[in-house]
Amino acid sequence: MNLELDKYQDYKEKILSGRYITNESIYKLKKKYNFSIIGKSSNDLPILSLKLGKGPIKILIWSQMHGNESTSTKALFDCLSFFDKYDSDIFSKVTLMIIPILNPDGALNYTRENINNIDLNRDAKSLSQIESNILRDLYSQFNPSFCFNLHDQRTIYSVKGDKPSVLSFLSPSADIEKSETKSRKDSMRIVALIKKKLSVILPGNISRYNDDFNINCVGDTFQSLKTPTILFESGHIGQDYEREQTREYMCYALIHAIKSIINEDFIKINYKDYYLIPENTKHLCDIFLKNVNIISEKKQLNVSVSIMFKEVLNKEKKEIKFMPYIDRYGHFSDMTGHLTLDFITVEQSFDLSNNFIINELMSHVDKLRIIQ
Ligand SMILES: [Zn+2]
Repeated sequence: MNLELDKYQDYKEKILSGRYITNESIYKLKKKYNFSIIGKSSNDLPILSLKLGKGPIKILIWSQMHGNESTSTKALFDCLSFFDKYDSDIFSKVTLMIIPILNPDGALNYTRENINNIDLNRDAKSLSQIESNILRDLYSQFNPSFCFNLHDQRTIYSVKGDKPSVLSFLSPSADIEKSETKSRKDSMRIVALIKKKLSVILPGNISRYNDDFNINCVGDTFQSLKTPTILFESGHIGQDYEREQTREYMCYALIHAIKSIINEDFIKINYKDYYLIPENTKHLCDIFLKNVNIISEKKQLNVSVSIMFKEVLNKEKKEIKFMPYIDRYGHFSDMTGHLTLDFITVEQSFDLSNNFIINELMSHVDKLRIIQ
């Protein structure tokens, strides 16, 4: 019996769902969790924190420093619910300090950046934003043994060609030479352990990020301060645009990471196994169309078309709409889609100068999808 796998539906935090996760969503959990306010955002929204456990091992976890990256936040609360229900002994061994949404303005407006248009994950050195300082001050006060930096990644990321990268990780570099420092090796071991634990349920869909050093990134900074830090990225698979599937996999990743720290299992892992995890590639688009007849400047072409979705917030309905647009067209030998369709049977030619070309393409996509 594998508790975390078999019981997922029993402990999944169902109050949280979809892509639009804001402070309001988190407040729905306030009967269960005792949130504190550790500060106010640039646009005066509360930044919530949550301290769980009393143990000597201290893990600092923050999510949604990029406001529109909500999947790992959902997964984090699934993970907490798991420990609460099935393994609450851990809370005598560990103290978790959590910021569920570091960038509440970005979450509310569904943007990566904060209200001042600053990417908080490029602000670690200049600390120009209130949110960056709140995280940094908490880091200094809490003095964590480990840090988890939670994100979402775009649908373009693949593993070894065209397999979707569902989960991606990084043990950030601590210096420009990418030295294998002790803290870096420890985070590598944890990532390698997660990969090993998930290889049965998610074979071939786990990758790692490029580890070029960037002192402006929070993970690189904390790693350079000798705290083992791991970047967790929730990716995409199939037609799961609400990212409810990815959320489940990310939940398992977090459970294994926390357990391995508490049980010290990660120490037994060879850190070099980290390098065996393939690096992210970018060979995917949302919809890939082959053999499309298009008219470009009066010339008839037979090409492939990659369609991407722009994620647009409907604030009244509190939901995200996925608006298709043509990303590129041409001949691509190394590209595929989360949905791939062949337009060989479509006789129509699509004129690029027509403002409604995307609607026309999508109406054929919908028809072909049914046949498929
Ligand atoms: Zn991010």
